Amino acid sequence: MSEQDGAASKVDVVIVGAGFSGLYLLHRLRGLGFSTRVFERGGDVGGTWYWNRYPGARCDVESMQYSYSFDEDLQQEWHWPEKFSAQPDILAYANHVADRFDLRGGIDFDTEVSAAHFNESTGRWLVETNKDERVSARFFIMATGCISTAQVPDIEGLSDYRGNTYHTGNWPHEKVDFGGQRIAVIGTGSSGIQAIPVLAEEAAHVTVFQRTPNYSLPSQNVPMTSEYEESWKNDYQVRRDEMRYTAHGSIKELNDEPAMAVNEDRRQQVYQERWDIGGAGYLGSFNNLLTDADANETAAEFVREQIRGIVKKPEVAELLAAKTYPIGTKRICIDCGYFETYNRDNIDLVDISGGPIERMTPTGLVANGKEYEFDSIVFATGFDAMTGTLFNVDIRGRGDQALKEKWYAGPRTYLGLMSEAFPNMFMITGPGSPSVKSNMLTSIEQHVVFVTDSIVHMREQGFASMEPSREAEDDWVEHVQDTANRTLFPRANSWYMGANIPGKPRLFMPYIGGVGRYRKICEEIVAEDYKGFNFDADKARTPVAAE
Ligand code: NAP
Repeated sequence: MSEQDGAASKVDVVIVGAGFSGLYLLHRLRGLGFSTRVFERGGDVGGTWYWNRYPGARCDVESMQYSYSFDEDLQQEWHWPEKFSAQPDILAYANHVADRFDLRGGIDFDTEVSAAHFNESTGRWLVETNKDERVSARFFIMATGCISTAQVPDIEGLSDYRGNTYHTGNWPHEKVDFGGQRIAVIGTGSSGIQAIPVLAEEAAHVTVFQRTPNYSLPSQNVPMTSEYEESWKNDYQVRRDEMRYTAHGSIKELNDEPAMAVNEDRRQQVYQERWDIGGAGYLGSFNNLLTDADANETAAEFVREQIRGIVKKPEVAELLAAKTYPIGTKRICIDCGYFETYNRDNIDLVDISGGPIERMTPTGLVANGKEYEFDSIVFATGFDAMTGTLFNVDIRGRGDQALKEKWYAGPRTYLGLMSEAFPNMFMITGPGSPSVKSNMLTSIEQHVVFVTDSIVHMREQGFASMEPSREAEDDWVEHVQDTANRTLFPRANSWYMGANIPGKPRLFMPYIGGVGRYRKICEEIVAEDYKGFNFDADKARTPVAAE
């Protein structure tokens, strides 16, 4: 693909995705006077909240914190109905933001970017869509989210099945009526654990196929109270600042002592208090739960004991109690009555840890040598996370190098923002940044500001392009892995490690050093004149300017 073959309109920036990253990018770049095109494969804004409409979908970061901070009026005016918001409320918020800042008209919906090639002679990206449009851009930004390529397992005979199939990450827009149906749910990650209690309320019978049990904590979700809302709104500036320098980009109290520094009674008391409060704050019960296996085991065993207390059938409780990996090393799940659901008469749990689902049949599936019949099958089987969506676009940098080829052994980025040999291409919350190990909204805002500030810096300095040095990238990749290797995270077969996708390189993809630490590193890099980034000052090329 070359710019000569019908390169179309020219803009400063092409943005892929109109989720929370793309919306804020568009708003900010417009305000800075840059011309933009935004392409979004969905029919409307919202990204992950547009696609993940399965029953029970909700965010497990508190809404007062899982929201934009960039506009004071917006954060003061918006009202969240619950402490942890349901998907429709978060999608309504995304739509409100799009309307309030007049963003919708700047977005091409139902449009997928299929390729983006860097042209070395012009220093521009040529971006191609599935609607045969070609756009030439100085900057190319992938704002495509970390968990946006849904994964249906390659089960023999999948196409033979004649019932309805659904994936939680690609749910129909119209209500699905499961009334009177026998349904299967395959997968017990965050999505399955949220969907199963709601599906069991509605369907005649639910059979859950579990490959690996997950640790799940109660959300203890409650309607928003005016006192709680006001406590945040009266103090928003201070609290948002605090969030930006925390470990996970949200305010959760960390008990800053090791688990073994207190006696058993005190440990149990702390775990019980945190369990009763609800949410992921449980993992902050002590400061070494994710670095010390013995400490971790005390927290894991407390959760197993809760499951044994909730689930009436002991054999089912044991199957639901995770034992093969430390708590928190697979994404912790937050539920609304998940374990209680197994006390219903219309649900069965099938353990498939001993071998995969053997095959699909026209009426159901075969597992553990037994045939099951279903009217519908729900795949809650996860995503090709962090890299899958980047690889879905044919991205080529200098020397026609494909991103997919460069990253064949795992993602290589500097700060999760850029990759060497891909000048002027940015990723929002890319691999190697805190991303999925943080409150995504906090990390998105930081990346959007970093990227837009970098573009402004180039405009001011008359630079044509920006790209990390190979050395800076190598050092960062090593730092990301070293940081993960000092924790228990590599012990789990998680999607953080790419372990859920057959053939995917096994390495820890997000940066686990903490949101605050990461932000300080970025600030230092900028203060040291963008240390580790090379700027092409070739004045023969068009310097960055609004076009
Ligand atoms: P997931 O965590 O990857 O879980 C997928 C589930 O499907 C796992 O139980 C997995 O088993 C199982 N599975 C995959 N392939 C299978 C196969 N071939 N046969 C049988 N079982 C199979 O995916 P997810 O639940 O969609 O969640 C993904 C991420 O999205 C979460 O970790 C979270 O970051 C985010 N999310 C957040 C929220 C929230 O904010 N509340 C809600 C939903 C999702 P194994 O464990 O054995 O691989």
